[in-house]
Amino acid sequence: MPVPRPEELLIEIAACGVCRTDLHVADGDIAARYPVVPGHEIVGRVSAIGAAVQGFAIGNRVGVPWLGHSCGQCRYCRDGQENLCDAPEFTGCTRDGGFASHMVADARFCFAIPAAFGDIEAAPLLCAGLIGWRALRLAGEGRSIGLYGFGAAAHILAQIAVWQGRSVHGFTRPGDEEGQAFARSLGCCWAGGSDTLPPEPLDAALLFAPVGALVPAALKAVRKGGRVVCAGIHMSDIPAFPYADLWGERSILSVANLTREDGTSFFDVAVRAGVRTVTRSFPLNRANEAMAMLRDGRIEGAAVLVPPSRSS
Ligand SMILES: [Zn+2]
Ligand SMILES: [Zn+2]
Repeated sequence: MPVPRPEELLIEIAACGVCRTDLHVADGDIAARYPVVPGHEIVGRVSAIGAAVQGFAIGNRVGVPWLGHSCGQCRYCRDGQENLCDAPEFTGCTRDGGFASHMVADARFCFAIPAAFGDIEAAPLLCAGLIGWRALRLAGEGRSIGLYGFGAAAHILAQIAVWQGRSVHGFTRPGDEEGQAFARSLGCCWAGGSDTLPPEPLDAALLFAPVGALVPAALKAVRKGGRVVCAGIHMSDIPAFPYADLWGERSILSVANLTREDGTSFFDVAVRAGVRTVTRSFPLNRANEAMAMLRDGRIEGAAVLVPPSRSS
């Protein structure tokens, strides 16, 4: 049982989402501190409070996201870009995360979760939702957007973008007709394989699949001045493509991590948009099975792990 330091909370975990980044941590694709407990989409209740923590009480429901700590002193933290901090800590990567019954978290980086969401349905909001939200904001105000990789993040972002009045196009693996039907059921005006072009040029494309070949594919789908936003933490190499596909002031950018402001603004919009997450829950001792199913694209919506005391 971890013991909270003065600035930390001890949290009894109620649910923890499984994110593609957990696969990258398990595979050694990104710089983690090993051994480490994965999991960064955590919903739980405060069971002990460090001496220096203010504003929390025993029993409060909290959410713990990917950004576990930032230094507060580097140029990025001072400029309001704590997502780019030079000395960050990441939950389930450099700090132990939520594939567990309990964990400790820096209280300053925990969120309150709106009562509209149950524990399990809230879990995917903590990363798929709020890093997806950061990606959507970086995509700009365009009316027509495309979501490549229709998993946990896209299924949340589609609902928000439709609520905002945008035309949303869902791109799945070629031939994944179930995934395309799922995208249409969430309000997408069009859904198809990532090897096809949408019926109209996109103002922006958001890439949630870790497949570098989607970057030139998405560039072909966006209009002049359009943006391609890469939202994953890791991606296979991007193949060479003709400069003409980038020409016309198209741009490619990446989204890294989140700020606490992304979290608070996201939860506000998620409530107003009436977001409903589609989840498939697994007992914690079936974490490997959940990760294997996510890897194979066999999860509709988001996988969520539930510790034994909660699932019995
Ligand atoms: Zn910093
Ligand atoms: Zn994540």
